[in-house]
Amino acid sequence: MAKHSSRVALIALVTSCLVAAFPSVTLASHSWNGYHWARQSNPFNLKLGDNVSSAWDTYLVTTSNDWSASSVLNTTIVPGQAKRNCRPTAGRVEVCNSTYGSNGWLGLAQVWISGSHITQGVVKVNDTYFNTAQYNTPGWRNLVMCQEVGHTIGLDHQDENFDNPNLGTCMDYTSNPYGPPNNEHPNQHDYDQLNSIYAHLDGSTTVGSPVPPAMNDIDLAGPAQWGRLVRQSRGGKAAVFEADFGRGHKVFTFVIWANAAE
Ligand SMILES: [Zn+2]
Ligand SMILES: [Zn+2]
Repeated sequence: MAKHSSRVALIALVTSCLVAAFPSVTLASHSWNGYHWARQSNPFNLKLGDNVSSAWDTYLVTTSNDWSASSVLNTTIVPGQAKRNCRPTAGRVEVCNSTYGSNGWLGLAQVWISGSHITQGVVKVNDTYFNTAQYNTPGWRNLVMCQEVGHTIGLDHQDENFDNPNLGTCMDYTSNPYGPPNNEHPNQHDYDQLNSIYAHLDGSTTVGSPVPPAMNDIDLAGPAQWGRLVRQSRGGKAAVFEADFGRGHKVFTFVIWANAAE
């Protein structure tokens, strides 16, 4: 009887990929609505477009290595194609840095969704803040790079309180990346979560595949283009926005605001 019900649960889990993800399946976890890259085998290889300047190169390498430690995916750093404004490229993630201005955000990830699948992503880190003494540290650079790339592979935050003890993962908000424990890298829970998100295989792939042209052409440079606020952390220092383009096409923007420690 127990065996039968677990098989039913497994079928339900696989089926949920084809329709909308069951909230009950993902609520207690730290995936992000179960959104994932569609792929026909594991581990899949996700390209990270390198649009960052030399000050960020070592952090991008560290982040790529961190997430590649997952058994279900590898990331490879490739020459960037984002040009100005960090434009997305179908089927991969573009990573950019710039002095985006005193707009409040330290870093953000934008993730394009079609149905339950991720189709492309963008990561931006804001040098307007990383050039200041408060944020110009390996700790902050690693945490933000690791967290934003983590969003583009389907992970959500493990914790959104900046003021409680660190969980030892970059997917945890903190006012001190060094802790202890240290929040510069993923922890085992992140890898377990990835194993869960990518346990099933898909009949098609979105890794390296084109997306509908209309979704490619939009510039989501600021809050006015990010859509509705779907979640805000305590104190309003981090947020998730959703822009809905209809027929299952959405763009999510994860923002981590600067001066979180104040
Ligand atoms: Zn799937
Ligand atoms: Zn985040």
